Amino acid sequence: MLLVVNSGSSSVKLAVFDGAELCAQAQVENIGSGGPVDHAAALDLGLLRLALPVAQVRAAAHRVVHGGAGLTQTCRITRGVEAEIEACAGLAPLHNPPALAGIRAVARLWPAMPQYAAFDTAFHATNPEVATAYALPLAERARGLRRYGFHGLSYAAIVRKVQEMPGSGLPKRMLSFHLGNGASACAILDGRSVASSMGFSPLDGLTMGTRPGGLDPAVVMDLVARHGADATEQMLNRASGLKALGGSNDMRALHGAGTPEAAFAIDHFCYWAARHGASLCAALGGLDAITFTGGIGENDGIIRSKIVNRLAFLGPVLDGDANARGDRALHAATSSVAIWTVPADEERQIAIEARAVIDHEEGLR
Ligand code: ADP
Repeated sequence: MLLVVNSGSSSVKLAVFDGAELCAQAQVENIGSGGPVDHAAALDLGLLRLALPVAQVRAAAHRVVHGGAGLTQTCRITRGVEAEIEACAGLAPLHNPPALAGIRAVARLWPAMPQYAAFDTAFHATNPEVATAYALPLAERARGLRRYGFHGLSYAAIVRKVQEMPGSGLPKRMLSFHLGNGASACAILDGRSVASSMGFSPLDGLTMGTRPGGLDPAVVMDLVARHGADATEQMLNRASGLKALGGSNDMRALHGAGTPEAAFAIDHFCYWAARHGASLCAALGGLDAITFTGGIGENDGIIRSKIVNRLAFLGPVLDGDANARGDRALHAATSSVAIWTVPADEERQIAIEARAVIDHEEGLR
């Protein structure tokens, strides 16, 4: 059995898989703010909640947000890989440290257990340089300032699940939306990422729950001059986006609020999702399918229809009833573009990818 560990800044999600089959899962929240004091304590608590015979767990696999330019595939965590993840913490100061804490907590509990890392950036390693390069001086690009793209484990799972869907086959040009608290879109050509709305960090692109999405860098310079770098980072990660526009980062609350501000926040979210989506269609050279995943993408028919209607010039037409029911297939018979909801499945994707690395290692023995 394989333990999948998804460490966030204040939470740890655990899942145990036997092959691709989910056996148990547990979640621990509020680390450092009323809950467990740190990630090691959270892991202890989570393992207790899983109530698993520990001896059955053979390996652990961690979700790591940023793999940088070097870590582009799920891999065994060696000392070298751990050092590289740590080096990437400079690129992702809010995102990689929790994963490192999770890796070290597992190592302390079970020093001999093999550990694996799966990266949210890895799926986008196939993006062409024209998509990833910022037009900055060479010395800055050489330091790793480029677009990486995120939510890659979610998009890899979507490709797998669309392939598994009976009768559909993988569409050539697929625009995928991951709409949760974090939100992004990805251009997927023949199953490979060619462009992402997220960039150097998960701040860029769509309007999100608490992040603003795309900003003119001069806005950031103004904010840093006025508030300092730390306060600006907090503002852009935690106090912007839907929360800033509509008073809540919870899409359900915005629908229920009935205020002009909430309506504007919803409109902003859908407008920018469509604007970025259309830009990604230029990277794809057209559009054959749209997928929606994440808490909003899977559950919110109003948001889906507002986004699809703005993209109607590219051919997608929703079946209103299927969309309201939240069916798997949402396209009308007249639609030239398939539209699907695909449940998020990142943890299983991590398990499948880690299992493949383990099988490969065993084959080498
Ligand atoms: P995270 O990115 O933190 O994993 P989720 O994917 O769970 O977040 O998405 C959270 C968002 O999904 C919130 O805005 C929440 O309001 C929204 N959401 C969850 N369920 C529904 C629903 N049934 N209808 C509309 N929005 C929903």
